[in-house]
Amino acid sequence: MIHEVLPVGILQCNCSVFGDEQSREAIVVDPGDDIARVLEAVARHGLTVKAIVITHAHIDHIGGAQKLKLATGAPVYMNRNDAALQKMMDVQAGWLGMRPPAAVEIDSEAKDGDVLALGTTEFHVLHTPGHTQGSISLWIPSERKLVAGDTLFRDSVGRTDLPGGDSRQILRSIHEKLMPLPDETLVFPGHGANTTIGREKQFNYFLRGI
Ligand SMILES: [Zn+2]
Repeated sequence: MIHEVLPVGILQCNCSVFGDEQSREAIVVDPGDDIARVLEAVARHGLTVKAIVITHAHIDHIGGAQKLKLATGAPVYMNRNDAALQKMMDVQAGWLGMRPPAAVEIDSEAKDGDVLALGTTEFHVLHTPGHTQGSISLWIPSERKLVAGDTLFRDSVGRTDLPGGDSRQILRSIHEKLMPLPDETLVFPGHGANTTIGREKQFNYFLRGI
């Protein structure tokens, strides 16, 4: 499995490009910005994008989705519980002092338990609300990888002070959906460095006592 992580945009959102070596198909997760670089990575590996997955509707994760969709024709997957947040894109752009990006139409709701296939590799959708109501994580069992969006970070958890945030709920999501994954699971958070489930279990201060 090809996997490139590209930090994109002013908030350096970790955009993941996954590519299947056999079918040459790709899934792009969180194309927040810098779509030219994302397309360059896709082309460099000779891939065709078959799905665009949004972990949650914050502008730094979804901002480039329409550009990427226009360039590739790939459908966009996002959990419907972030629909209200997605409609606030002009407000979100105001938080960052930037112009709102082109709006994107969601083609498929990414529900808890949904499975996306990339060649023979399965991507399992885990609904992990708390950072936002529609936050999802992607669990790739055969790769032992988790794309965590802004739910779990190395040494931290996602902020819950923005609209739709809930500090109890994010801890419940992490405890019930993420901590049961194997300790060696490689975690790719929405920002910053990678980690593992085992490492966060041991050292993440925010997860003590849950
Ligand atoms: Zn976020």
